[in-house]
Amino acid sequence: MTPLHIDLGAPLSLAETHPGSRVELFCGSCTWSRSYRPDRIVAGLQAKKLGDRQTAIAAVAHLVHWPCPGCNRMRWGSRLLTP
Ligand SMILES: [Zn+2]
Repeated sequence: MTPLHIDLGAPLSLAETHPGSRVELFCGSCTWSRSYRPDRIVAGLQAKKLGDRQTAIAAVAHLVHWPCPGCNRMRWGSRLLTP
């Protein structure tokens, strides 16, 4: 998987044009990361009324309110990985 170069405002709906892409949540302090299906992220945001498919991919990181399992900090980033 390769990180796609996108601007900060690129919405989650962009993933729909890249079949098999994943949204990666990564820690800015250590090497921990995990990737998720974009449609699951959208469904989760909608369920919590935090966003929808127009939510920026980069903004997903700001909605994470748990510390990194690797280093216990909260320095999240999020990006789109393409196959
Ligand atoms: Zn970490």
